[in-house]
Amino acid sequence: IFITIEGPDGAGKTSVIKQLLPMLEETIQQEIVATREPGGSRIAEEIRELILNPENTEMDARTEALLYAAGRRQHLVEKILPALETDKLVICDRFVDSSLAYQGAARGLGVHEVAEINQFATDNLSPDLTLYLDIEAHLGLERINQNKKTRQFDRLDQETLEFHEKVRSAYLEIAKNHVERIVQIDASQELGTVVEQCYQTIIKRLKK
Ligand code: C5P
Ligand code: MG
Repeated sequence: IFITIEGPDGAGKTSVIKQLLPMLEETIQQEIVATREPGGSRIAEEIRELILNPENTEMDARTEALLYAAGRRQHLVEKILPALETDKLVICDRFVDSSLAYQGAARGLGVHEVAEINQFATDNLSPDLTLYLDIEAHLGLERINQNKKTRQFDRLDQETLEFHEKVRSAYLEIAKNHVERIVQIDASQELGTVVEQCYQTIIKRLKK
């Protein structure tokens, strides 16, 4: 089973996953593979560096979208598919929905257009379950600013509040259109509460 965690910057995906993993490992028999995008394999990590390098300010938006899709492809083939084939539980921090929200909506390339290149990249693989950690853009940015010392600065950190608002509203729209796959969780709640809700959602899905 393939689970993805999505959300705007500052939603707390990384912190949630860190607490969630040991809880899942304790209660389920299945082996868990936790991974993240962009990156997750050697080549894909190199592509991540290229995309997120703060010096690459001249990067064209379509180039960026294609690089995300390329990195995703490599990560999928090297890591996600082999894990799924051997019946592992894969938990991935970001996947195609991120590209729809960031490159499709916020960068203005078009959600449909970006969906198409990603269908090619993933051969139409869709997660079985997506936890969407929802947070208002300004709250997410506040959290990022509070954690500045421990976070790595990347090119996207130069984006405006307006950009992050577009990301969030795109996510809300995507979640609304895929209720069978996406479970929306209010990420402005206390971390422990968010983790618990994510945990319960996954357990419920595993029992199906
Ligand atoms: O989730 P994480 O913080 O590792 O993502 C790294 C950066 O890449 C973030 O600033 C995020 O906004 C950006 N990103 C993006 N488009 C994607 C995925 C991530 O702009 N498809
Ligand atoms: Mg970041």
